[in-house]
Amino acid sequence: MAVWRVALPVAGSEVYDYRPPAGWSGAAPLGHALRVPFGRRELVGIVMDSAADSAVPAAKLRAATAVLGEAPLLDAPLRALLEFAARHYLHPLGLCVATALPAQAHRAPRRVHHYQITAAGQATLAAGRPRGARQRAVLEQLAAAPEGCAREALHAPATVLSRLVAQGWAEVSQRCDDVAPHSPGAEPATLRSGQQQALEAIRGAGSRPQLLIGPTGSGKTEVYLARAAEVIAAGQQVLMLVPEIALTPQMIARVRARLRARVGVLHSGLPDGARHALWHAAASGEADFVLATRSGVFTPLPRLGLLIVDEEHEASYKQQDGLRYSARDLAVYRGQLQDCAVLLGSATPSLESLHNATQGRYVEHSLPAPQRGQQDLRLVDLRPLPAAEPLSPALRALMREHLDAQGQCFLFLNRRGYAPVLYCPECQWSPQCARCDSAMVWHRGAGELRCHHCDSRQRPPTGCASCDGSQLLPVGWGTQRVVEAAERAFPDTPVLRFDRDSLGQRGALESALEDIAQRRAPIVVGTQMLAKGHDFPALSLVAVVDADGGLYSADFRATERLGQLLSQVRGRAGRRAQDAACVIQTRAPTHPHLQAWLAGGYGGLSQALLAERAEAGWPPYAHVALLRIEAPESAALEAFWQALEPGRWQAEGVDLLGPVSRPRRAGRERAQLLWRASRRGQLHPLLRQLRATLQDARWARSVRWAFDVDPWTLD
Ligand code: ADP
Ligand code: ZN
Ligand code: ZN
Repeated sequence: MAVWRVALPVAGSEVYDYRPPAGWSGAAPLGHALRVPFGRRELVGIVMDSAADSAVPAAKLRAATAVLGEAPLLDAPLRALLEFAARHYLHPLGLCVATALPAQAHRAPRRVHHYQITAAGQATLAAGRPRGARQRAVLEQLAAAPEGCAREALHAPATVLSRLVAQGWAEVSQRCDDVAPHSPGAEPATLRSGQQQALEAIRGAGSRPQLLIGPTGSGKTEVYLARAAEVIAAGQQVLMLVPEIALTPQMIARVRARLRARVGVLHSGLPDGARHALWHAAASGEADFVLATRSGVFTPLPRLGLLIVDEEHEASYKQQDGLRYSARDLAVYRGQLQDCAVLLGSATPSLESLHNATQGRYVEHSLPAPQRGQQDLRLVDLRPLPAAEPLSPALRALMREHLDAQGQCFLFLNRRGYAPVLYCPECQWSPQCARCDSAMVWHRGAGELRCHHCDSRQRPPTGCASCDGSQLLPVGWGTQRVVEAAERAFPDTPVLRFDRDSLGQRGALESALEDIAQRRAPIVVGTQMLAKGHDFPALSLVAVVDADGGLYSADFRATERLGQLLSQVRGRAGRRAQDAACVIQTRAPTHPHLQAWLAGGYGGLSQALLAERAEAGWPPYAHVALLRIEAPESAALEAFWQALEPGRWQAEGVDLLGPVSRPRRAGRERAQLLWRASRRGQLHPLLRQLRATLQDARWARSVRWAFDVDPWTLD
C-alpha cells in the first residue's frame, strides 16, 4: 500500500503519512499540494516523498482528501533545498515549506489575457484590411506593440477580439501581469577592461560558486547584468538577490532598462496576490529574471542558470525569527542542487566568504577601484572635546571648505533620536524601558522617550524619579543632536535628516533622495540607510561621527561590521573625480583595528580579523549554534535549565558555552546556550538529539525555544 509523506504547516513531525485519496491510481504526485484531514481540521500540505509502508498502524493511517492544482508547487530541487534547510537550521520541515510558499500557493494564479498580432495579421493590415473599422483599429494597436497588449489596454468588445483570434490575425495567451516584458531599453555600457576580464572569468568558472570583490562604484552591477544577459540569451533564468534596502525604484529601473528580458520583482512589501502571481510566473518559466530580497531564494526557477547575491555580507540576508536561514548560504547550496553558478558580490565581503575563497571553495574575481580624485582620509580624536559636541573643530573646518566649494557633506551616525540616555547628574538615575533591559532614547523632536527594542513610548519625567534632582541631561548623540550641532555651526545651510524616523511617511524617502541629488540639502545627517545604494554626484565629504560602538562590542562580528561600514561610507565620497575627504571620529585613535583599516582598508582589516578568529576559534574557523529561550518570568528559564541539564549536551570536539542570560526584551526574559565545533558533523547529531528531546518534553513547553544555527549575532 502506498503511503505519501506530507509536509504540513505545523510544528511537530517532519512529515506526516497519509494514504492516497480514494480512487487515486498511479505515482505519487511529488511536490503537489494536498488537502488532508488533520485532527478535526483540514490542512493543505505538500507531498514530499512516498513510501511502501508506514510506521503508523494501518488502522490509524488516514486518507488524503484531494490533490490540488495541476502542477507541482515544489520541484525536486526546491524540495531538496527545503529539506536541507530543515535539517541544517533544525526547523520543522512543514514550517520551512510554509516560509517558502506564498499564501494560498495552490490556487490558480491571477492571469491576464494578452493579445499579440500574428504574421497573418500583419499581412492583412498591409493589404489594407480588415474592412471593419473596429477590428482594424485593434489590429493597428497590436501592430504598434511588438510585445503585445494586455486585454485591459485594448478598448474593444470581446466579440471583436474573438473574431480577430478566430481569423488567425491575433493570438491570445494568459500572462502574469506583474512580469514586465522587456522594454527596448538602453544600450548596455561598454565594459571597461577590468569588467570585461571579470566577465570572462565568471563565464569560464562554469557552475562553481564565485566571489566578485570590487569597491562601491567599480561596476559590479554592470558585470552581473552583462552575465545575466548572456545566461538569459541562452534560454535560462536568473535570480538576483539584493538587501531589502537596495531594492529601490532606481535599481528596478536599471535592471529593466538593461536586460532584454521579462523581469519580475519580489519583496516582502508585495501584496499577497502579486507575490503569488509572480511566483507562478517564475515557476512556469514566464519570468526570465527575478530580482528579489531574502525570501526570493525560494522562488521556483526550473531553468535557473545564474544566482547572484549582491552585497553578500549584508545582515538582512539572515532571517532573525522562525526559520532562521541565511539566504546567501542557501543560495550557495541551491547552486549545487541546480548545477548553476552562484555569484556573490561585495565591496566588503564577509569573513566567511573570504575564507571560502582562500580555501578554493569559491572562485575569486576582483574589480579595480574606479577612477577618483584624491581622498583625504583622517582620524579625529574626540577625547579633548566637550562631550556634548558631536562635530569636532577639524570636521567643521573641512565641512566649511567643502560647502564653500559647492560640495556636499554626509554625516553618519547609526543611532536615531536626540540622545541615547537622559540622566540625573545628582544620582546617575536614568529612565529605563519597563519591558526591556535598556535605557529609553530621548527623541526631542517628538518630545518623547522611546525604546529602540520594543518601541514603547512615554513622556519624559520632569525631574529625577530617584532623588530630588530637578533636571535630566542628555548623554551621547543621536542623529537629531547631530542635526542640531550642524545647524548651529552652519546657520545658513539647510540640513536634512535621513533616518527611519524622518522618512516614515510614504514618499518621504523618494523626495529626500531627490533633495539630496539636487543638492537642496548640502548637509545630510543619516544612519546606515544612507550608506548604501544611491549615488550622489556632489557628495565630497563623508564623516563617521562616532566609530567606537563597533570597537568595544562583545559580539564577535562587531568589528567586521564596523570595517564594512567605514569602507562603505568612505566609498560614498568622491565618486566623481573631485577631491574628497573622509573623517572618522573616535575616542580610540590608536585602536589596532582602526589602525589596520586605515593602513590596509577593509582588505587589511579582514586579514587581521581572520587571524584573530582563527586564534580564538570563532567562525569561519568554527561552526556556532545557539539555543535561544525566552519566557515572561525568569523562573521559567531557571526551571528549563534545571530540567535540561545543559552540561549533558556535549560531544567530542564540541565546546559548550553557557547558559547565559541575555537582556530582557519586550517583557520577555531571555537566555541562551552556545555550541562551537570545528566540524559540523560533530555538532549537528547532538543538536538533532536535543531537538527531539525538547519536542517531546512537557517541561520544555513553559518557555519559547528556538535554534539559531550560524547566528548572525549573539545578542
Ligand atoms: P557597483 O555595483 O560596483 O557599485 P555599478 O555597476 O553600480 O558599480 O557602477 C557604478 C556606476 O558606474 C553606475 O552609475 C554605472 O552605470 C556606471 N558604470 C559601470 N560600468 C560602466 C561602464 N563600463 N561604462 C560606463 N559606465 C559604467
Ligand atoms: Zn537623581
Ligand atoms: Zn523596550
